[in-house]
Amino acid sequence: MDLKQIYSQILMQHARSSDYKHPMEDATWTERGHNPSCGDDITLSVKLDGDRIEKAAFEGHGCAISMASTSLLCESIEGLTLEEAQNKVDCFLQMIMGEEKDPEVLEETLGDAVALQDISHMPQRVKCAVLAWRTLEDLIREKKENAGK
Ligand code: ZN
Repeated sequence: MDLKQIYSQILMQHARSSDYKHPMEDATWTERGHNPSCGDDITLSVKLDGDRIEKAAFEGHGCAISMASTSLLCESIEGLTLEEAQNKVDCFLQMIMGEEKDPEVLEETLGDAVALQDISHMPQRVKCAVLAWRTLEDLIREKKENAGK
């Protein structure tokens, strides 16, 4: 099995049944992300412990790419501080924009989310892939702004 097949298996598994797709009753923060061009509509829930992400989950619907991407985001940010999560978001966006291509850097920073790398060659799917990550960025920005007050 080559890498492309491994990647598409990871994506299919996450899109079909995600461990992270469920309501979170004790969420400290939720944010909706919407991608009108495809119809993807997600609500991201995070439980923060100080500035550390204790757990993450999502609800909503959308195409396989957006669902897989959101699930992979939740998986990869649990246990991280907001700053560490922001670094991950930056790396992910750079991968999707085709700016960061070093497989070792991507694998090490993003783990399984590297499976979305090929999206950088599919401009019409980019919005699907980055939706959850942009939504998380909104949270981090809000937190920072509030902390400065
Ligand atoms: Zn989509």
